[in-house]
Amino acid sequence: MSDASLNQLALLGGSKAIAQEFSPYNSIGEEERIAVNEVMKTGVLSKFLGCWHEDFYGGPKVREFEKACAKYFNTKHAITVNSWTSGLIAALGAIDLEPGDEVIVSPWTMCASATAILHWNAIPVFADIEAETFNINPLSVEKNITPYTKAILAVDIFGHSSDMTALMSIAEKHNLKIISDSAQAPGATYKGKYAGTVAHIGGYSLNYHKHIHTGEGGILVTDDDNLAERMRLIRNHAEAVVGDRGIDNLNNMIGYNFRLGEIECAIGIEQLKKLPGFIHSRQQLANHLADGLRHLPGLQVPIVKPECTHAYYMFPLLVDPNVIGCHRDLIAKALQAEGVMVSTHYQNLHLLPMYQKKIAYGSKGFPWTSEICHRDVSYQKGICPVAENINENHYLGFGLCVYDLSIDDIDLIVGSFKKVWSNLIHLRDYV
Ligand SMILES: *Cc1c(COP(=O)(O)O)cnc(C)c1O
Repeated sequence: MSDASLNQLALLGGSKAIAQEFSPYNSIGEEERIAVNEVMKTGVLSKFLGCWHEDFYGGPKVREFEKACAKYFNTKHAITVNSWTSGLIAALGAIDLEPGDEVIVSPWTMCASATAILHWNAIPVFADIEAETFNINPLSVEKNITPYTKAILAVDIFGHSSDMTALMSIAEKHNLKIISDSAQAPGATYKGKYAGTVAHIGGYSLNYHKHIHTGEGGILVTDDDNLAERMRLIRNHAEAVVGDRGIDNLNNMIGYNFRLGEIECAIGIEQLKKLPGFIHSRQQLANHLADGLRHLPGLQVPIVKPECTHAYYMFPLLVDPNVIGCHRDLIAKALQAEGVMVSTHYQNLHLLPMYQKKIAYGSKGFPWTSEICHRDVSYQKGICPVAENINENHYLGFGLCVYDLSIDDIDLIVGSFKKVWSNLIHLRDYV
């Protein structure tokens, strides 16, 4: 292979900078296989009973995993659920939402953060994000507060905590609850506490794509006894047990089956032990990648705010097309051709058809067209200018979580970026 071919961009006919495929990230090992087999020997794959009985709270592995999570995250309660989507629904039900209440949420998140609000016939209100962390901007939150606002759903997107001090002080001022969707940030820290544990309720996803997983699953964390009990009720057919329990507050005591099984919890116990190691190695890779990229003009590496640590679910970059001289999408195309699998868009939830057309339950616009909805909430393009602009022009994501990478692999990735950056003059002519 000639030097010329090596130096020429793969997109323009040269050779790829990265010839090999990276192997996929896999957090599951021998420990999990042994733990699963132990549960299999007992024949008890779930012990939950949906009536008032000592098994209302689940079997031995459920309880052991919940205890381990409460200890790890240093919260009074940890409650397992069969997905984090279920966890968000349980959390929002537990704070006594009324139909038509408004919950302020980020548009830059996985869709379940907002649909969990709609599940209680409450209204998602999208506030804009801050460019540094991609998390909800407290100033925009404050602008979106109305007499109908009941809660803020803060998402610690990509693994960096939201600005919890600012959000908690807004919550206190307006008597709101804060729920933290820390699905992508287990093990990240904020002022010495784990992300997700600063809010009234927080929690993590255990789906296959997250730092640690149980196939599907989720964990709710809270220090509040009352909220914890209401989430446990919603998890397991609340309506069937509130009578026997003498519970007077029936608000949102429509229960579900959100129960996580014994096998998943046995896996979770082993996965949790590995979490600190996974986070540490990911931080090392991310730091190495950031060091390699930070000097490239027009490229912003992830920002880690003071007193925070990042869990790097994603390694989010921002490109400045004005400095680089070509559009973000073309940069992405050139990097992908070299073998670096970057993505160009994340989420602008308010622009999804469901919000644009305001059609959720049935076909007639419920809940927005119903009398429970207090006002005409806008989801028009333009309500979240920062999130929209970043998605269209600047965001470049690299999924550190997707591959099992070594420092040498990171060097190859850095080399690919440098190759693209040193060929920008040729890329600008590409059509
Ligand atoms: C993964 C994820 C969810 C949903 O979690 P599931 O366990 O898949 O239901 C919610 N919010 C965010 C930010 C996520 O990344």
